[in-house]
Amino acid sequence: MKTEFSLAQLADPDIAEADKILRACVHCGFCTATCPTYVLLGDELDSPRGRIYLIKEMLEKDRPPTPEVVKHIDRCLSCLACMTTCPSGVNYMHLVDQARVRIEKEFRRPLIDRMLRAVLGRVLPDPKLFRASVWLARLGRPLAALLPEPKTPSATPSLVRRIKAMLALAPGKLPAPGPAGGSVFPAVGEQRGRVALLQGCAQQVLAPRINQAAINVLTRHGIEVVLVKDEQCCGALTHHLGDDRDALARARANIAVWRAEAERGGLDAILVTTSGCGTVIKDYGYLLREDPDFAGAAAQISTLAKDISEYLEGIELRSSTLQKGGQDGSFVVAYHAACSLQHGQKITQAPKELLSKSGFVVKDVPESHLCCGSAGTYNILQPDIATRLRDRKLANIATVKPDMIAAGNIGCMTQIASGTSVPVVHTIELLDWATGGPRPGSN
Ligand code: SF4
Ligand code: SF4
Repeated sequence: MKTEFSLAQLADPDIAEADKILRACVHCGFCTATCPTYVLLGDELDSPRGRIYLIKEMLEKDRPPTPEVVKHIDRCLSCLACMTTCPSGVNYMHLVDQARVRIEKEFRRPLIDRMLRAVLGRVLPDPKLFRASVWLARLGRPLAALLPEPKTPSATPSLVRRIKAMLALAPGKLPAPGPAGGSVFPAVGEQRGRVALLQGCAQQVLAPRINQAAINVLTRHGIEVVLVKDEQCCGALTHHLGDDRDALARARANIAVWRAEAERGGLDAILVTTSGCGTVIKDYGYLLREDPDFAGAAAQISTLAKDISEYLEGIELRSSTLQKGGQDGSFVVAYHAACSLQHGQKITQAPKELLSKSGFVVKDVPESHLCCGSAGTYNILQPDIATRLRDRKLANIATVKPDMIAAGNIGCMTQIASGTSVPVVHTIELLDWATGGPRPGSN
């Protein structure tokens, strides 16, 4: 794609990066076929190619974002299916991230929108506030039924619709908190390695059992696990809301504590059980590339970051002797490929192979490239598109008749579980079960 940035514009490293990305696009439109919003809405401006044009116009003309641009960028899930499909290697992620930052800085959203986004950006990354807000949501749930239903689903939903979506996603009860930062879990038997495990923000409130399963599997296989003190949210939530100041501050704080831990006790990896977080931590090196104090350390941390399935691939797991008791003696697991894992990190086979080797019958879900609609805060901010995507995902999952559904991202797990009675678990919970831990849901 031809671009017309001035030399003065190109002196800005972000614009220079955008120019490089835009020039790689040859407008072939292959990406439109796998874009969930284009598949649902059929509007070119809700396709990757359409959004790329909108972003190009905004950046090249140095115009403030228009309501039209904001509408179509807001509808993008950042699922990155377009990056998997694109034959020209267009880095849509870095382009849309830049557009979101510009929108956040230069576009004045309606007051209600600003307030809702500010609350999400403040509450979700803070486990204490998030826990308190879930209690409040439980109290507010009966009110949800009294709120009016929209007459037709809308791609520009009202505040009432968003509040209803938020209340619907809040769990009925919360588990007790997991272990605190600073905890160390020694290897069982001879120590073969030492890793940090990202504690996460929303996940540690909603499902501490996931990291407990990871700790069980790792220590059982000779790996010491440390939960690093003073670690915070990875920044993914505010990053996707376009608040780069908050996201980068969190990235710098995490880099500092992880580096200190690596120097103190050594770290073979920083493991992540929430693939949405993993994608952003692996991008710290890029996000802080212009920061002279952090660029080198950020790149090192990005190299250390690994999804739990990626790390376990290199370890011979105990063979399973489990009688799982599923259909016909076999136990069928529908594997839901989280977008951040399959498109963001290009990890497609490791989780399925680990599950198969552990004795599960793993079934791919039809249309597995399409997002389930979770996408961080998307299911709150764009509930109607998100619900349509969820229902499509559930219909596809139902075709493989699973005993359980496995995924590697808490956002997807919550979204999918909100529409099915089939148990939805994390891949690591099944691996824990298969190597001597409890059956998921039994503890
Ligand atoms: S597939 Fe890639 S090159 Fe083709 S239009 Fe989409 S982003 Fe551009
Ligand atoms: S990130 Fe997903 S929703 Fe956004 S343009 Fe790409 S494929 Fe479409």
